[in-house]
Amino acid sequence: MLKINRNFFKNEDIFSNEIAYIASYVINALFLILHIFFEIYYIVIAADWMIKLNIVSLIIGILNFGLIKFEKTKIFVNMLFYEAMIHVTIATLCFGWNCGFQNFHIAIIVLIFFGNYFSQKMGHDDVRTLKFCILDIIAYLFSFLWFNWFEEIYVISTTLQKYTQLLSALVIFFIVIAFMWILTQFTVRVEEAMNKKAQFDELTQLPNRYYLMAHFKQLMTKDNKQNNYLAIMDIDDFKKVNDTYGHNCGDYVLKEIAQLIKKYSKGGFVCRWGGEEFIILGSVEIDMKNQCRILNDIRKFVGNHDFKYEVYKFNITITMGVAIYEQGQSVEEWVNVADKKLYAGKYSGKNKLVF
Ligand code: GH3
Ligand code: MG
Ligand code: MG
Repeated sequence: MLKINRNFFKNEDIFSNEIAYIASYVINALFLILHIFFEIYYIVIAADWMIKLNIVSLIIGILNFGLIKFEKTKIFVNMLFYEAMIHVTIATLCFGWNCGFQNFHIAIIVLIFFGNYFSQKMGHDDVRTLKFCILDIIAYLFSFLWFNWFEEIYVISTTLQKYTQLLSALVIFFIVIAFMWILTQFTVRVEEAMNKKAQFDELTQLPNRYYLMAHFKQLMTKDNKQNNYLAIMDIDDFKKVNDTYGHNCGDYVLKEIAQLIKKYSKGGFVCRWGGEEFIILGSVEIDMKNQCRILNDIRKFVGNHDFKYEVYKFNITITMGVAIYEQGQSVEEWVNVADKKLYAGKYSGKNKLVF
């Protein structure tokens, strides 16, 4: 019976937590840099209350590093959001609508989704992005309505207002661009990793059946299909290897045989068809006799190879069925012909090539 004691479920995570941690540190570092920049600005325009408020923000920023370190990601995302939202709202009320601080509420939305995404990647709960978005929009509307009844606290020149607005817009551009860039880069990498996982066999690193089917599909659109052969090979008495030396040894044999087939297949497309079966797909443009010789050599190379696992030394043989594509055949029919030949080889003594 097949014992599943293999690495099936290991490394299932496409990317490690490490990346999510680095992303959190980067977000927080950017957050701190922004607040240092604000501190300078507040000092220049002598906005005493904002200088103090910003010091609180800076302290929160420093404490956030601790939250990330101790994996309190959800609290970190909450702190980041509430601090940013409160700070931006107070800054808007202090400097007036014309300075454009309220536009930071838009950048906060990007920050929230970003933080939430990475928080989830680190295995934490969803931080309820929708709730944060609504709160953020309410804070924006609140600031807008505020100025119907109240004036800004710090009266600054229109020129300074204009440049503050420009500067805050540029910072918002930067935040949106930087975060979207990181996110898209990350998504592309994850997609690549997922594709690889879906198309390649984890154990042997060979393309898997899914990949081969896509390859077949492409091949079927070509005019020179009948110039292709398909060799299906099956390890002889593989169950005995598992039963005698253990499943890990069986895995070792699969990896070793995959390497041997790949090494000697001379340009053929090698894939793990499933279990202890492999397929080589190749072109017979030169001459099939020659191809059969190459395939038969693979069989001999495997048969002569000394497999060594822990204290065990043993030999393994394989049997192959080979079929050239025939006009009008479907992929299933083609594979079936090769499969029947393989079984003819099995029933007539194994360790042979049947063409
Ligand atoms: P035959 O010569 O007729 O092909 O006999 P066999 O023992 O090779 O064939 P059988 O179909 O009876 O057994 C195949 C075995 O391959 C059963 C299964 O446990 C084993 N197997 C399939 N996939 C893996 C794998 O990824 N790792 C290991 N270790 N064993 C596997
Ligand atoms: Mg089999
Ligand atoms: Mg077998």
